[in-house]
Amino acid sequence: MRTVIVTGASSGIGEATARKLVQSGYNVMLAARRTDRLQAIVEELGEQAAFHATDVSSREDQEALAAATIERFGQVDALVSNAGIMPVSLIEKGDVEDWDRMIDVNLRGVLYGVNAVLPEMVERKDGHIVIISSIAALQTFPSSAVYSATKSGVRSMSDTLRKEMTVHGVRVTTIFPGGVKTELGTSIKDKSVLEMMDGVFNFEFLEPENLADSVAYVLGQPPSVCVGELMIRPTGQA
Ligand code: NDP
Repeated sequence: MRTVIVTGASSGIGEATARKLVQSGYNVMLAARRTDRLQAIVEELGEQAAFHATDVSSREDQEALAAATIERFGQVDALVSNAGIMPVSLIEKGDVEDWDRMIDVNLRGVLYGVNAVLPEMVERKDGHIVIISSIAALQTFPSSAVYSATKSGVRSMSDTLRKEMTVHGVRVTTIFPGGVKTELGTSIKDKSVLEMMDGVFNFEFLEPENLADSVAYVLGQPPSVCVGELMIRPTGQA
C-alpha cells in the first residue's frame, strides 16, 4: 500500500484529500498544528491513517514528520504540500508580520517539506510531490501581493523541480485551485478587504472534495504519466 503525507490536513482541502486518499487505498500521514482535529479525523479513518503535529515553517518539524511516516508506514511515496495561510492586506497597511508568516508557511514550508522527503525518492527513483498553489499565483487582486508572490514562487519552484526530477523518475504536480469553501479567509483582518472580496468573489465556490478528487486523479496515474499542472476553478469564476 502506498503512503502519502498530506500537510494542512486538519481542515479544508487537506482534510478532504486525506479522507479521499484513505478511501482510495493509500496510507495517509496527516500533518498540521491543531492536533485535536487531526486526532478526531484519524480516529474516524482507522488504521490507514496517522497524524504528526507539524508546523511546516519549522525544518525540524518537517524532518520529524518524514521520519515518523517512515517509522509508521515504511516509506513516503508522495507528499501533498497543501498547508497554507492567506492573511491578505493592502501593502500600504504594512502588515509585515503577516507577510513574514505567509512567506514562512506558503514558501519556506513547501521547500522544507520537499527537502525532507526528496532524497529517499531520488534514491528509489520513485515518488510524487503534489503542491497546492493557487489561481492567485497567476491572477493578482488588490491585497494579494504577498500571498500571490508566495504562490507564484511556489509555482516557479515546483516547475523547476519537475524538470530536475525527470532524470530521477520522481513526478511533480502543481495544482492551482480557484475559490474553495474552506477556513482560508478567516485570517483576513481588514474589513475593507473582506468587503472588496465579497464583491469580486461573488460566485459559488468549489467544495474541498472537488480538489481532493483532483489529487487522487494525479496520484492515480501510472508511473509513465506526470500531470504537470492542473487549474481547477468554479464554473462561475472568471
Ligand atoms: P484551510 O484554512 O481550511 O486549511 C489550511 C490548512 O493549513 C489547515 O489544515 C492548517 O492547519 C494548515 N496550516 C496553516 N499553517 C500551518 C503551519 N504553520 N504548519 C502546518 N500546517 C499549517 O484552507 P484551505 O484548505 O483552503 O487551504 C489549503 C491550501 O489551498 C492552501 O495552501 C491555500 O493557499 C490553497 N488554496 C486555497 C484556496 C481556497 O479558495 N480555499 C484557493 C487556492 C489555493 P493548522 O492550523 O491546524 O496548522
